[in-house]
Amino acid sequence: MKLSRALDGRLREIVRMGHPVLRERAAEVAAERFGTRFLRDLGRDLIRTMHEGGGVGLAAPQIAVPLRVIAYYLPAEDATPELPPRVLVNPHLTLLGQPDEPGWEGCLSIPGLRGLVPRHARLRVDAFDVDGDPIAFEAEGLHARVIQHEVDHLDGILFLDRMPTMAELFFEEEWDRWAGRKDLPVEV
Ligand SMILES: [Zn+2]
Repeated sequence: MKLSRALDGRLREIVRMGHPVLRERAAEVAAERFGTRFLRDLGRDLIRTMHEGGGVGLAAPQIAVPLRVIAYYLPAEDATPELPPRVLVNPHLTLLGQPDEPGWEGCLSIPGLRGLVPRHARLRVDAFDVDGDPIAFEAEGLHARVIQHEVDHLDGILFLDRMPTMAELFFEEEWDRWAGRKDLPVEV
């Protein structure tokens, strides 16, 4: 989806940790909803709201829509070339490799915090676009991390739940000052 078109979407309110929708399992999107204005608008709204919030991913439950839909993109500095905004419906992940690749994550529903989270370094995705066409690909690194983070939202899981220790949870301002000195990786 082209960014200019995606930004036609509406800006939606992002719910924060504590809202019960973030702890529920989101429902599969029914086949009859593929290709509808409802689902296309939901995809565009997710992308617009993600960009306005300064995030690289957003799941439908984060705008209080309990459906299995996520949006994400990768900026040019993290992917070569930039991966334009993408919407995945009913994503199914096949996790590959060891589940212990550490990396920093933040979340638009947990603003101001950043934590070190182990994830699978690679995965395979089987999903649909908003029109119901199948999408299948493999992802690794930050790409794989963003997808795991967003799909966790569809199962009521937050990145905090994946952290082995709260000692590696930072406010962003403190992270800028201290993460490097603690000999923790500083790339996000
Ligand atoms: Zn999140």
